[in-house]
Amino acid sequence: MTETGIRKAGDIMRDFQYREPEILPKAEFDCPKHGKYTGCPIKSFVFFGNNDDEGFITNPECPKCVEEESIRRERAEAEEKKRKEIERFIDMGIDEKYWPETLSTFNAYTPELEKHLEAVRKFSENPEDRKLVMLGENGNGKTHLAIGALKTIGGLIYTAYEIGLILRESYYGTINQYDFLQKLCKTPLLVIDEVEKVSETQAKQNWLSHIIGKRYNKMLPVIFISNCHSQVDCSYYKAKHEPCSKCIEYHLENDVLSRIVENGQVMNFMGEDYRYKIRMERREKQ
Ligand SMILES: [Zn+2]
Ligand SMILES: [Zn+2]
Repeated sequence: MTETGIRKAGDIMRDFQYREPEILPKAEFDCPKHGKYTGCPIKSFVFFGNNDDEGFITNPECPKCVEEESIRRERAEAEEKKRKEIERFIDMGIDEKYWPETLSTFNAYTPELEKHLEAVRKFSENPEDRKLVMLGENGNGKTHLAIGALKTIGGLIYTAYEIGLILRESYYGTINQYDFLQKLCKTPLLVIDEVEKVSETQAKQNWLSHIIGKRYNKMLPVIFISNCHSQVDCSYYKAKHEPCSKCIEYHLENDVLSRIVENGQVMNFMGEDYRYKIRMERREKQ
């Protein structure tokens, strides 16, 4: 059977009479914003054109306009990227103060902090099934390191008080308690700050045990932060054989505490005030 009536692609292309665009001689143009510039206009021909197609001329763009547009676009893209990053930080629960901070911006100015930075780096690279417990006075860099890990791994940071508050709120139907708990159980890394403030009622201890248990079963990492110290490091405890109000044992019942510390790597932040040190260094630089 012959292919009469069926035309090949090549025949059709010939009918189109495609012509390459022509580059015309250099000429001078006037940009209303930047003044005179030179360039070569281009003469193009309509694809379906025939031999008497005269084509149409496109003038070259003003190079300064092109450059300005590309800078404008780059800036807009950078701003959009930053906006999205901040949105992500807000969703994660990271406070504005820590938006610029990462593990790389951490100033490990003592051997103790160097050791902690290294430990958190290793944790961030391989967090599966791990638990960090950061103990020590406020302002020693604990939150900075935890957020460094959080930005690397992804996840959520809440204070124990906030979790308790949101779970209480949910009794009134504004938030679904189960969904919120699920979120805390499933997020890649969960950081619970000021964990010593969890102890007030049995209900709160229940959510903590629930989350720890679920995450343990899923082999998901947790970081606990507390502004307290352990009674084994407490001089008051050593003298009086009872915990001081800065002992984590003073705030948490034994079973809750053992849930937190169990299988965890306890990091003691005993050094001088990290925030104070950073403030002084920034002042010196000015
Ligand atoms: Zn221009
Ligand atoms: Zn103490």
